[in-house]
Amino acid sequence: MSKRDYYDILGVGKDASEAELKKAYRKLAMKYHPDRNKGDADAEKKFKEAAEAYEVLRDPQKKARYDQYGHTGVNGQGGFGGGGVEFDMDDIFSRFGDIFGSSFFGDDIFGGGGRGRSRGGRRSAGTPGSDMKIRMPLTLEEIAFGTDKTLKVKKQVGCTTCDGTGAASNSDFETCGTCNGMGEVRQVTRTMLGQMVNVQPCPTCQGEGRIIKNKCKSCNGEGREKGEETIKVNIPSGVSNGNYITLRGQGNAGRRGGPAGDLIVLIEEKEHEHFIREGNNIYHDLTLSIPDAILGCEKQVPTLKGKAKLRIEPGTQPGKLLRMRGKGIVGLNNSGEGDQYVRVNVYMPRNLSDKERKAVESLHDAENFDASNQTKEEKGFFSKMKDVFG
Ligand SMILES: [Zn+2]
Ligand SMILES: [Zn+2]
Repeated sequence: MSKRDYYDILGVGKDASEAELKKAYRKLAMKYHPDRNKGDADAEKKFKEAAEAYEVLRDPQKKARYDQYGHTGVNGQGGFGGGGVEFDMDDIFSRFGDIFGSSFFGDDIFGGGGRGRSRGGRRSAGTPGSDMKIRMPLTLEEIAFGTDKTLKVKKQVGCTTCDGTGAASNSDFETCGTCNGMGEVRQVTRTMLGQMVNVQPCPTCQGEGRIIKNKCKSCNGEGREKGEETIKVNIPSGVSNGNYITLRGQGNAGRRGGPAGDLIVLIEEKEHEHFIREGNNIYHDLTLSIPDAILGCEKQVPTLKGKAKLRIEPGTQPGKLLRMRGKGIVGLNNSGEGDQYVRVNVYMPRNLSDKERKAVESLHDAENFDASNQTKEEKGFFSKMKDVFG
């Protein structure tokens, strides 16, 4: 199986930035999007090919393997779920939902209909359902390791009485007389430039080509009704605020058997009591007493998987960042795990008893308490912080 070069596919150089890759992929994805290329197998192939190339090149580790070993480097490496990079359409939409965003499918680009329109089975039956957006607040723990969520979604569902057709029975349909079942009407007008043919959806049957003589009583001929559905969503690890997961066909049911819209799940990260997130790393503040900082100690600190022991060395300076390797967030598509950093603070008491005051005063001239003992490295705390956050 010979494969095209991923860089060629996206039309980018080896040193393309993340933004350039994203832009190149987005452009191709839009060009070869299945809704714009109905039934075009070649376009579908190119659509998948671009997704595959982007999947590899956006990920520094996979990109490095690909640069070194070519296609064999990224196939069979696990991570893609077995033998190679193989997507189906749903994979692509759920994986790169954030690339498409919601506007990708919205009115701006496709002029009105959204994606639903291309999915109908019968040519003229029904009107597509609308897309729905739903917010999904997640805890940092859920984001860190991925989770399965069950949602109860209130939406339009197909009418079970008429099976979504809108008619009381199957014999209650009649071919529309206005358009003779074509679903559209043509108007021919003469202009100075010659004949103009204007094709419009039939106003009598709204483009359906048939008319219902006897409407279904439960849905009043709509073929859908208000309902609730339980939907399972798999949230991969490492998602961020603003990412989308698009569940195709899980939105509002179409009218009279039209295809359902999509359900777009918008990821929101809940604030965490103990942690601040930076990419795949998390930060935690730990305040020590003066004796603990001077003498060293062992502390239980919170992690994303519950409490863990952390050893504090004697003479630990305020502001010191301690790294707990691998205790951060598992990156998107298993792209490695982040770390937890614990930033040490030292608590200075405000009020002292006489006894305490005497004890502290006795240290005033103690040799090892002289601030000029501070090492260069300890002074460099500010620049170290800049390195970590910059
Ligand atoms: Zn009905
Ligand atoms: Zn008609």
